Amino acid sequence: MAIDFLSEAHALQSQLIEWRRDFHTYPELGFQEYRSSGRIAECLQAWGYEVQTGIAQTGVVGLMRGGSPGPIVMLRFDMDALPIVEENAVPYRSQNAGVMHACGHDAHMAIGLGVAKLVAEWRANLNGAVKIVFQPGEEGLNGAEVMVNEGVLENPRPSIFLSVHVWSDLPTGRVAVSPGPVMAAAERWSCMVHGKGGHGALPNQTVDPVVAAAQIVTALQTIVSRNVSPLDTAVVTVGTLHGGDAFNIIPSRVEMSGTVRTFDPAVRVTVLERLRQIVEGVGEACGTHVDLEIVPLTPALSNDPGVTEVVRDVVETMLGSDCLSADVRTMGSEDAAFFTREIPGCYIFLGASDASRGLDRPHHNPSFDIDESALVLGVAILTNALGRYVFSDESDR
Ligand SMILES: [Zn+2]
Ligand SMILES: [Zn+2]
Repeated sequence: MAIDFLSEAHALQSQLIEWRRDFHTYPELGFQEYRSSGRIAECLQAWGYEVQTGIAQTGVVGLMRGGSPGPIVMLRFDMDALPIVEENAVPYRSQNAGVMHACGHDAHMAIGLGVAKLVAEWRANLNGAVKIVFQPGEEGLNGAEVMVNEGVLENPRPSIFLSVHVWSDLPTGRVAVSPGPVMAAAERWSCMVHGKGGHGALPNQTVDPVVAAAQIVTALQTIVSRNVSPLDTAVVTVGTLHGGDAFNIIPSRVEMSGTVRTFDPAVRVTVLERLRQIVEGVGEACGTHVDLEIVPLTPALSNDPGVTEVVRDVVETMLGSDCLSADVRTMGSEDAAFFTREIPGCYIFLGASDASRGLDRPHHNPSFDIDESALVLGVAILTNALGRYVFSDESDR
């Protein structure tokens, strides 16, 4: 008999909600998650984990080894909140002014603790090991990359990676697990268009960087429409455009920045090449000189087909095939990609909205909140997935 982790997770429901509300009440920004990670480390220590703290500043790693050899499964939960003033009038409203768990990482920490507790309770049935990673600084800060650089993927090196994100686009009870890329590679680009300033009434005596910038913005739109296959996926966005101080003066410089998002490495190369050719070439055609900088932020997050199939089967067995959503993919980025780039894994989108109660605001919205009944499902899916890899079936403890 397999361990009934769904019932085990249900039994933890009130505890999961209590943890989640506590984390929600005291949100902390990236790399400052001292209170959150302190609570987590205390729990892991109490439950018998080998605990490592202070990795990537506030990261916590709990390792539970089984009695016999087997796969080493890594689970990752992010901990950071956002610089947002919470607008929810709930008893667990943020008590840290201007900081809010508006992405659901409070829920991730609660799910992580729930999984950790069940793994500890069933350790007699454990083969291999479970490495539970609580990560700082996911929100644009690449905490995952810092953890990799500080050795989180070694001693022991995991063979399987699993992670979950509560998802406000999906109602509670629905889960999306798709093979292949599910979140995009992201680059930040910025450039300075250098012209020659002068009087707004005498454009012939200037080299106008405003006109050059306008042509660049327009020409950039041809990358996705003309250079990328209609069957592939890419985004080129201009996010900022700054130049000039007065209506009758042609400025000498215009500054622009934006982002590129892609799934496929070959498409990424094409888009970045065309970006450079267009920005520099159009700038030159306009008589300006353009300095362009492209900074890679995160790789694409790609789900391993084998691990994804196991997770799909876990969800289907537990909740029925109706609960599996069609492909969820987003051009947003997620630094868990630094883990899935090295370890075959699956990143799970866990439905957590309930429109009838207004719990369906988008992530990063000041009124974001989740349907807390998703917490139990998160714990049950991850522990059942662990059941396929590291838990033996004997029900005796
Ligand atoms: Zn977020
Ligand atoms: Zn998030």
